[in-house]
Order: sequence, then structure tokens, then C-alpha cells
Amino acid sequence: MASDRADDKYYVCIVCGRKFPRGQGIVVEKAGFTLAFHSSRCASKFFRLLLERLDDSCARPAIRELIGELEEANRKRMEKRKKVI
Ligand SMILES: [Zn+2]
Repeated sequence: MASDRADDKYYVCIVCGRKFPRGQGIVVEKAGFTLAFHSSRCASKFFRLLLERLDDSCARPAIRELIGELEEANRKRMEKRKKVI
């Protein structure tokens, strides 16, 4: 273990500080930040904390839109399944 800094081949998980190779984990570019998570557990911890800090007026429209899209996708998937059976 040489350095804790991220280089070209590695990311550092922003939640637990673990180093992980490119191509693994979850990396999201948003608002000028590179958010790197070594596992989905660290990602969900970060996003849960982020959601708690977001203002309702900012979070509400995005949540409503996303729930709508996911429900629509679920409905389509269920309909497809029904036709097959
Ligand atoms: Zn982590």
C-alpha cells in the first residue's frame, strides 16, 4: 500500500476511504464532483445522507418524477410478463 491518493488506476471510496480499481465499484459524476463508492452499501449510505440534507422543495419534484418513471417501467414489465404466460 503506497499511497491513499487516487491515481489513474484507482479510485478512493468517499465514504470509507477504501481504494478500489477502475471498473469496479460505483462512480457517479455530478455537479462537478466525482463520487466514487467501493460498494453499493457505501453508495446507499451516502445517498441516504444526501437526501436528508436536500431541501424538500428541491427533492420533491425530482422524487415525484423518478417514482412516476419507475412505476411506469414496472407496469410495462408486469404487462409483458402477463402476455407471456
Ligand atoms: Zn466504501
